[in-house]
Amino acid sequence: MDCIFCKIDKGEIPSEKVYEDDDVFVIRDIDPKAEKHYLMIPKRHYKLIDEMTDADAAALMRGLRKIPSLAGRLGLDGGYRLVINQGDDAGQSVFHLHVHILGGQPLDFPDLKK
Ligand code: AMP
Repeated sequence: MDCIFCKIDKGEIPSEKVYEDDDVFVIRDIDPKAEKHYLMIPKRHYKLIDEMTDADAAALMRGLRKIPSLAGRLGLDGGYRLVINQGDDAGQSVFHLHVHILGGQPLDFPDLKK
């Protein structure tokens, strides 16, 4: 499958993996949009929330619930923001669902209507 995140999971493309379990892995984003920017990526390939099964949702939730215990090691003690970009309007560029984890600095909340 020609998916960059599947290739990263298999070690075919190098990445800085900072966490991994049976459900998800977490890598440092190659083009950080905040002082700390990671991606939590489910191991099973699916593109969008629409394609998520109940088992996928449970697996991702287990992954999300690990974040508080990783926060200190990842420099996210001050808080963090989780973002899922879905589709073109959101600017999704990799079509393997993933959660951005952003932090390491105060994050403003842009008014996107402007
Ligand atoms: P999105 O635009 O929401 O689909 O997010 C895709 C993210 O993947 C972007 O923030 C990219 O910087 C990141 N990305 C793309 N290729 C790599 C890579 N090889 N290693 C780490 N992050 C990547």
